[in-house]
Amino acid sequence: MFDSMKFTQWFDNNKVNLSSESSKAINGEYTGIDWPRVIPFIAIHLTCLFAFVTGVSWIAIAVCLVTYFIRMFAITAFYHRYFSHKTFKTSRFMQAFFGFLGACSTQRGPLWWAAHHRHHHIHSDSDYDVHSPKHGFIKSHMTWFLNKKHFPTQHQRVKDLNQYPELRFLDRFDIVPPIIFAVLVLLLGIYIESSYPQLEASRWQILIWGFFISTILLSHVTFCINSLAHKVGTRRYNTNDDSRNNFLLAILTLGEGWHNNHHQFPGSVRQGIKWWEIDISYYILKFFEKVGLVWDLRYSKTQPTTALNTNNSIANGENL
Ligand SMILES: [Zn+2]
Ligand SMILES: [Zn+2]
Repeated sequence: MFDSMKFTQWFDNNKVNLSSESSKAINGEYTGIDWPRVIPFIAIHLTCLFAFVTGVSWIAIAVCLVTYFIRMFAITAFYHRYFSHKTFKTSRFMQAFFGFLGACSTQRGPLWWAAHHRHHHIHSDSDYDVHSPKHGFIKSHMTWFLNKKHFPTQHQRVKDLNQYPELRFLDRFDIVPPIIFAVLVLLLGIYIESSYPQLEASRWQILIWGFFISTILLSHVTFCINSLAHKVGTRRYNTNDDSRNNFLLAILTLGEGWHNNHHQFPGSVRQGIKWWEIDISYYILKFFEKVGLVWDLRYSKTQPTTALNTNNSIANGENL
C-alpha cells in the first residue's frame, strides 16, 4: 500500500500525472479513495485535537480568524473569481501572490482548482458534475476530491493559466505553500510567546489554532459551497441547476453564498446583487481597484456596478 512512489506524490504532482495508476484514473477505469494521498488531509483533522493539550487564548482565536480570513479571500476572490472565471484583470505578481496564498489553504493548486470548477459550471448538477449533491451529500462535500480519478489537474481546461510557469510550479508542488504557511504561523507563535508572555499563549497553541483549526474551518466552509449551496437556501433565478442563495454561507465565505446569483451570472465579479447581500470579497476587490491592484472588473448586464447601489446600472461584460 505504501511505497516511496506514493510518498513522492505528496510533494510532486507530476509523479501523479505520470503514474500508470493516474492514467487509468483519468481514463475512468477505476475510482476509489486514494488513501496514501489522503493521509495529509486526515492528519490535519487529527492534529486539531492537540487543542485539548495546548488550550486556547484570545490571541490564538484572533490569529485563527485572521489566517482564515486572508486565505478565504484568496480562495474566493482569486481561485474562484479570477483564476476560474476571469472576472477581473491583475498583474502577474498579484496573480502569483494570491495563487500562493490560495494554495496555503490546502485546496490544491490554482490550475487544479480552476479546472475542476470550470467543469462544474459546464455540467452543474448533471450526471457529469463531479461534486453535485445529487450524487451524495458527503461525496459533494469532500470525498469527490479524495478520489483517485480527480487528483490530476485537467490541464486542457486551463490552457490560459498553463502559460505561466509560476502557476504550474504552484500546482505541481501544492503541498509546499501550506508547509511554508504553517512555519510562518509557528514563527509568529514564537514571537508572541517570547514578546507578550502576559497573553499566556504558547507557540504550539498559536500553531494549532492559527494553522490547523483555521485550515479545517476554511476547508469545510469552502466545501459547503459545493454541498449545502446546492441544497439549502433560496433561488432567485431559475438556473439549470440546484444552486441556492444562503446568507450564512455568504458571510462565512466572504460572499460565495450567493451561489444562485453566481450560477446565473458566473462572469460577474460581484455575487451579492441586492444591497443587503453582503459580498466582502467584492468590497475588497473594489478597494483593490481603487488603489490600482486590479482592474477591468466585469459585471453581468443586469447587476449594479457599485456595492450599495440598487438601481440597475448597466456595465460591460459577459458571462463566462
Ligand atoms: Zn455551484
Ligand atoms: Zn463559479
